[in-house]
Amino acid sequence: MYVLNLGEDWKVIVQEVEEDGITVKPETHRKYLAKNVAIASGHHAKPTMAKFMGQDSFTGEIIHSVKYKDVITNHLEDKRVLVVGIGNSAVDVAVNIAAIGREKPVYLSTRSGAWVVPNYIFGQPTDLYANRLFLALPWKLATWIFETVIKVVSGDPKRWGLNPKMRALQTQPTVSPTLLHHIQRKNIVVVPNIQRIENKKVYFINGESAEFDTIILCTGYKIDLPFLSDEIKQTVLDDNNNNLKLFKNVFNPDIGQSLAFIGFVQPASGGILTIFETKNRYYHSARHTIQKDPITYNDEISSYFGAKPELLTNPTLAWRLIFGSCGAFQYRLQGPNTWSGAKEAVKKVPVTEMMNYTGIGLLVIAGLINVEEIPTCIEVNAIGVWIFLNGCK
Ligand SMILES: Cc1cc2nc3c(=O)[nH]c(=O)nc-3n(C[C@H](O)[C@H](O)[C@H](O)COP(=O)(O)OP(=O)(O)OC[C@H]3O[C@@H](n4cnc5c(N)ncnc54)[C@H](O)[C@@H]3O)c2cc1C
Repeated sequence: MYVLNLGEDWKVIVQEVEEDGITVKPETHRKYLAKNVAIASGHHAKPTMAKFMGQDSFTGEIIHSVKYKDVITNHLEDKRVLVVGIGNSAVDVAVNIAAIGREKPVYLSTRSGAWVVPNYIFGQPTDLYANRLFLALPWKLATWIFETVIKVVSGDPKRWGLNPKMRALQTQPTVSPTLLHHIQRKNIVVVPNIQRIENKKVYFINGESAEFDTIILCTGYKIDLPFLSDEIKQTVLDDNNNNLKLFKNVFNPDIGQSLAFIGFVQPASGGILTIFETKNRYYHSARHTIQKDPITYNDEISSYFGAKPELLTNPTLAWRLIFGSCGAFQYRLQGPNTWSGAKEAVKKVPVTEMMNYTGIGLLVIAGLINVEEIPTCIEVNAIGVWIFLNGCK
């Protein structure tokens, strides 16, 4: 594919490729003229390969996680494996190898450490705890709550050698239900950053060393837009910082609304789908800037086309809109393209016990604060109880 700006129109040249993804089928060459182009080629486009001192002397195999399928397909049974990184790919790969065909412990090398978030907290999916009340808290308080919950559920990350250098809400969360299980059983050994490599031996910065047959670099991806003309690419992509110069991660102000980027955003919690849906709807009607937390982002963007779920418009859902997690259904309650089943769908998303108790606690506090003004107290409590009862239906 090649995309070129011709003033009012966009020229798009496409060609099919063979299954290898590289070899072009010449007979499939086609040209299009388009008034609007939406790029949705994915932001996990180009593997980032870390480079370590002495790496060229390594006599085993070095691959990126993009090439990892599973232990059997990658012939890693009985191999001594070092996984580099502590993101979601690194943890999934390490756990997969540790669970199947493991001869020796799998080593997991990290320079930044991590707060590993469990998939479930107090029996509920962790995503359900991301809600508007939590996002409205001051950052330090929200971080303290998040870290305390992780410590209560999983123990202090330092105890597992994970030694996070950043606060829990400062980075993309690494989610794993089984990493700690494998660390505890010494199936996975957490080590710090690689200092140097000599033949099969890898030295870590804490002075430890071990021999490996395979190193798997789970070191992420870069945005890559090779199909844009150089001029357009320079306008939209800061290659050095892997940063897109886009208004709301969708439009570049110098280019305008005829070129849109869909999917170039990373959610801080939950899945990607809600964000993508809102982005697509925004593309059809849009204006302002973007936050990368899904709820904040979706609320902001959807407010531009009237689909932000308002408490006053949806009073019977107020409890869920404040204390419940977010989902695509909430943005079909009002505004364009509403869905008649949205209200029932919102009600099907459970509110966690923790958030229900938090809500009840806040109601009690609100009632006590106003207790000397009897009419206000009755009003506050009556409204609160009504919202709660409706929220729990
Ligand atoms: C290991 C891993 C695990 C993940 N786990 C999760 C998860 O649990 N939950 C979650 O929400 N997200 C997850 N993500 C992120 C999620 O996969 C991506 O955010 C999502 O797939 C992005 O969707 P997209 O449509 O923008 O891009 P993609 O899914 O990457 O699709 C882009 C498409 O564009 C095509 N394309 C690219 N270049 C061209 C070209 N020049 N011409 C024609 N076609 C082209 C590609 O072939 C591809 O089909 C994960 C990502 C990775 C790498």
